[in-house]
Order: sequence, then C-alpha cells, then structure tokens
Amino acid sequence: MKIAVLGTGTVGRVLAGAFASLGHQVTVGTRDVEATMSGADPGAAREDSFAAWAATAPAVRLATFAQATADADVVVNATNGAASLDALRSAGEEHLAGRVLLDVANPLDFSAGFPPSLFISSADSLAEQIQRAFPSARVVKSLNTVTASLMVRPHQLADGQHTVFVSGDDADAKALVNALLTDLGHTDVIDLGDITTARGPEHLLPLWLRLMGALGTPLVTVKVVR
Ligand code: NAP
Repeated sequence: MKIAVLGTGTVGRVLAGAFASLGHQVTVGTRDVEATMSGADPGAAREDSFAAWAATAPAVRLATFAQATADADVVVNATNGAASLDALRSAGEEHLAGRVLLDVANPLDFSAGFPPSLFISSADSLAEQIQRAFPSARVVKSLNTVTASLMVRPHQLADGQHTVFVSGDDADAKALVNALLTDLGHTDVIDLGDITTARGPEHLLPLWLRLMGALGTPLVTVKVVR
C-alpha cells in the first residue's frame, strides 16, 4: 500500500521505517522539505536530525503534507497534537476524502510545563475533532497509548502481552488498521467502538505520564484482563 506518514518526529520516523520494512511504499509528510532535511531546528543534535535518520531508510520519501497524501491509501497522523488540525488542513481536505486516517497523536498541552495536561475536555477527543473537521476521512484512533518503539516492536515488553485500542466509525477502515497492527506484531487489539470511544485512550495519557515518571521508563503500557 501507499502510506503517508505525516510527522517527522520520533513517531513518524519509527512508523515510516516499520511500514517500509513491511514492503509498503512510504512517504513522510512535513511542512517544508528543505527545512526538515537541513535540520533547521537549532536545538536538535546532528545525530538526531531527520537527514541522519533518512539516510538509514533510503526507501522512505519525504514530501510536503499535501504531496505525501495526494495518492496515499492510508494517511497516518503522527504530528504534534496541538498542530494536527493545521497539518491536516495543509495536507488538503480533498486528499483526505475517503482515506483511512490512522490518528496516533495525543492532545497534549505543554503550556504549563511537564507533565502536560490535555487540551480537550472529557467529553471530546482529538480524534473526534479531526473527524468533525474532515467528515469524509475515515478516522481510526490507535497506538496513542504506547511509546513509539512499542508501536512497531510490541514484543520488546512483556513478550508483547499488552493491549492497544482502535476507535472509529468506519468498520472497513478499522479492519485495515487492525491488519496493519497485526503486521506490526500486536496481538491484543480491542475495538472500543465508534470515534467517540477515542476519549478513553486519549484520557489514559495523564495516567501513562505518571506511570512513566514513577517507574522511570516509557516502556510501560496497559494490559486489559477480563
Ligand atoms: P512531535 O514533535 O510531537 O511532532 C512533530 C511533527 O509535528 C512534525 O512533523 C512537525 O512538522 C509537526 N508540527 C509541529 N508544529 C506544527 C505546526 N504548527 N503546523 C503543522 N505541523 C506541525 O513528534 P512525536 O514526538 O513524534 O509525536 C507525534 C505525535 O504522536 C504527537 O501527537 C504525540 O503526542 C504522539 N505520540 C507520541 C509518542 C512518542 O513516543 N513520542 C507516543 C504516542 C503518541 P515538521 O515536520 O514540518 O516539523
């Protein structure tokens, strides 16, 4: 499949690399290709630059948000949660129409420092905001409850015995995301229901952030037992 991964951060790189390894045709989306490749962020270490990562993943292309999504079968939103609606608007509503849009972003508000709070109310979610803004996109929320490396290598923790969730209104889109999750190695996927059920996984983040602080590792997540 053609997969557009919108986001050049840790999550975008990890998902793009994993999907390319699985044989998909992957394009990473960014605001400004030249700025991203030149590592314009003065705070970033050279070895952490996008260009350094891209050299390790030659099959992955880099393009603008709009170019990346133009002919994609699946679009992954791995952009900063506070900027996701802007990033998706840059991608273009016409490019998102009918597309499966896997949203892994979190609605984190860092304005008061760390740990961040959420910028959405308990009666809403970023996934719903995205679905409302792009009604013809087929939004599926998933993977936002695990750190980037666990998204693509679930077996590195507890032999993969932990849970990820899917939420979305479109059954076929959820089935496609489920298949991608299986390909990545996830074995415990709970379909929570429609897109409003994304509130649950998004509101898990305050607990997840405290668990990471208390246990001193991002390699921590939930296992649902019943
Ligand atoms: P990030 O630093 O949160 O986001 C980087 C991306 O956001 C870049 O592609 C950047 O575009 C884009 N962006 C930032 N400001 C923008 C703006 N004003 N307009 C348009 N685009 C903008 O990267 P991340 O740490 O990889 O996280 C990605 C998402 O996954 C976040 O929502 C995060 O909460 C979620 N998440 C992260 C983890 C994790 O382990 N880090 C785990 C689960 C979920 P450019 O490429 O143009 O710079």
